[in-house]
Order: sequence, then C-alpha cells, then structure tokens
Amino acid sequence: MSQTERVYSYSAVLMGSPILLKLFGHNEALASDVFRLIKQYEDLLTVNRAQSQVMSINHAAGRQAVDVSRPVFELIKCAKAASMLPGSAFNLAIGPLVKRWKIGFKGDSVPPADEIAALLPLTRPENVVLDEAALTVFLTQPNMEIDLGAIAKGYIADRVRDFLQRQGVEQGLINLGGNVQTLGSPEGGWSIGLKKPFAQADALIGSLEVENKSVVTSGVYERYFEQDGRRYHHILDPRTGYPLDNELESVTVISAQSIDGDIWTTLLYGMGVKKGCAALRNRPDIEAIFVTGQREVILSSATLFRFTLFDKAYRLTTGSTA
Ligand code: AMP
Ligand code: MG
Repeated sequence: MSQTERVYSYSAVLMGSPILLKLFGHNEALASDVFRLIKQYEDLLTVNRAQSQVMSINHAAGRQAVDVSRPVFELIKCAKAASMLPGSAFNLAIGPLVKRWKIGFKGDSVPPADEIAALLPLTRPENVVLDEAALTVFLTQPNMEIDLGAIAKGYIADRVRDFLQRQGVEQGLINLGGNVQTLGSPEGGWSIGLKKPFAQADALIGSLEVENKSVVTSGVYERYFEQDGRRYHHILDPRTGYPLDNELESVTVISAQSIDGDIWTTLLYGMGVKKGCAALRNRPDIEAIFVTGQREVILSSATLFRFTLFDKAYRLTTGSTA
C-alpha cells in the first residue's frame, strides 16, 4: 500500500452475519451496490425465512420439480457434486437434521436418537434431482430440505469479487462473516486473522497474508450449545446425524475461489488432519490450516499464503511432519 492510499471500511449485517467491505478509496455508492448484491443472493438462497427460491424447492419436496434461476441451479449442482464425492462429509440435503438440531438457535437440545435415525433417510443427496435442460430441482421425498448454509457465503463472496472487478476495482476485500475473498495485492498482502477457538471474539492465534485469494474458516466454536458437559456444534456428520466428532476446532482453507474454500472446510472436517493433508497433496490449488483441541496449528502446506503465529501456546507444524 503506498503512502497516499487509504483503506476505507464499510459494514452491514446480512445473512445473520457482520459483513465487512474494504476498498482503497472512498466510494459509498459502490459499497451500497455490493451490499445490495449480497442481499439479492441471500433472498434467493436463504432457508431461514419462509420464502426464497431454495425454500420453494423445499416446499415442493415429494410433489414436483421447481423452476429456478441459473445461479441457483448452478450452485445446487455444485453442492450436489460435492455431496456425492465418496465418503464426503458435505451434504446439501442435510436440512431436516439442521432444522431438528436448531444448533445456535433458540430451543436447541439433543434430539432423541430415534428421531435422528428417522431423519437420516431424508438427507440422501442422490434424491436431489436436477434437470439441466428445464432448469428445475426436485426433491423426490416429502420433507426433504436443501440447506446451502455451508456453501452460499463462498459463492456470494466470489460474485462480489467478480462485481468489484467489473467495476474496475483493483484492490478490495469482502468478509462475509468468516468467508473472506480478496482482490489484488496491496503491499505486504492482505492480512487476515486466524481466530482463537472458544476465546474472546478478537483473540487471534496468528495471521495469514494472501494476495488474490480467498480465506474461509469454519469453526466448531462459531455455533454450538452444551448439554450434560458435552459440546454440540453446527457441522453435522451426514453419516451419523450428530455433530462431527474429531480433534478439530477449526479448519481454514486458502484457495482462489471462495466456493472451493467453503466446500473444502466441510470436506476436511470430515477427514480430520491426517486424511485431509493426504487429500490436499493432490490439490496444489487448495491449502488448509487445521487447529486442534490440543493447541496444534497444522499447515497442509504454505505456498499460497504466509502464516505468522502470535500465540505461543500453540505448536506450529506442517502436514508432512504432523
Ligand atoms: P460453514 O459455516 O460453511 O461450515 O457451514 C455450516 C452450516 O452448513 C450449518 O450451519 C448448516 O446450515 C450447514 N451444514 C451443517 N452440516 C453440514 C454438512 N455436513 N454438509 C453441508 N452443510 C452442512
Ligand atoms: Mg462451508
């Protein structure tokens, strides 16, 4: 960043999250356009309101195929493909379980085991039927529900990046509450904090520097409740119907596209550190930072970003030595 350039920050609350836009140069009108764009996508994709295109699909479950717009179709297609990967922890049809657990919402408690077992058959991703020619989506079983909560922010972050690019913006950052997408390379790169799990909101383990990259973090500390001394968080294991249970407290993914980061945080949660690092060896375009309950920070590799550890209570290693 040169001496003459200043960062201007704009904020809003959308999709239930604080949204932050950073621009070099004061441009209130552009910030309003960005927030309007985010709201338009939220209106199409949300399942936290009675109406949206995704809710129309859910309301018609077991009855009929529903016409959707091209972006909604493409996003659902992408989410289904991630869900159909062998052993995938990602499942776009997880809706009935998410709604039943209500994690992070009023009235959350552990559902009876038989209820969870009864909901599992309603979460099969192969029962989300896409018709490319007709641009329709059909949920074949009554009470099935699509939930794009694990992918929508990544998709929208990429659309904001594209929009800013079309407006001629060379440097900018959008943070959709944990999903960061960046444009350009200010001097020293964009600095993004890695949050310390279960600590004050501003406590950081370290920071990453990136250029033209997305940084997505998914953490079990984001939304959870406690019952009988156990913690239940918001990332569910589609195989069991219960929160994913392993050593991880957060996973951060660095990639060019934020949608990939959003999908991969969930996939990696399901794999854990060892399998996750092994899977990423075939994907040089995607890197991850795992934070475990044993205060380890494990980098799968670090060619797309630079990492600085602040909190010396954590031990920093790379995937090859972990
Ligand atoms: P994220 O913050 O990207 O990790 O997404 C978490 C949200 O995705 C949750 O709040 C649910 O709405 C949804 N979700 C929970 N478990 C899964 C899963 N296994 N696959 C896909 N979406 C999920
Ligand atoms: Mg995600």
